[in-house]
Amino acid sequence: MDVIRINENDVLELKKKHPCGSFLFKVIRTGSDVRIICQGCGRDLTLPREKLEKSIKKIVGKEND
Ligand SMILES: [Zn+2]
Repeated sequence: MDVIRINENDVLELKKKHPCGSFLFKVIRTGSDVRIICQGCGRDLTLPREKLEKSIKKIVGKEND
């Protein structure tokens, strides 16, 4: 398995969609828990890093790029 490195401001595409229908989430804070914001509805979630890493389909990019 490749190691996925999550950085702040990364936009992630997850395997599972948010109830609002969006698959895209922006990373706000990393650590043992990672805080992400849904790009569809703006709600923020906090997930254990290990759990989040398993649910990432791909890293789409940086919002600022
Ligand atoms: Zn949402």
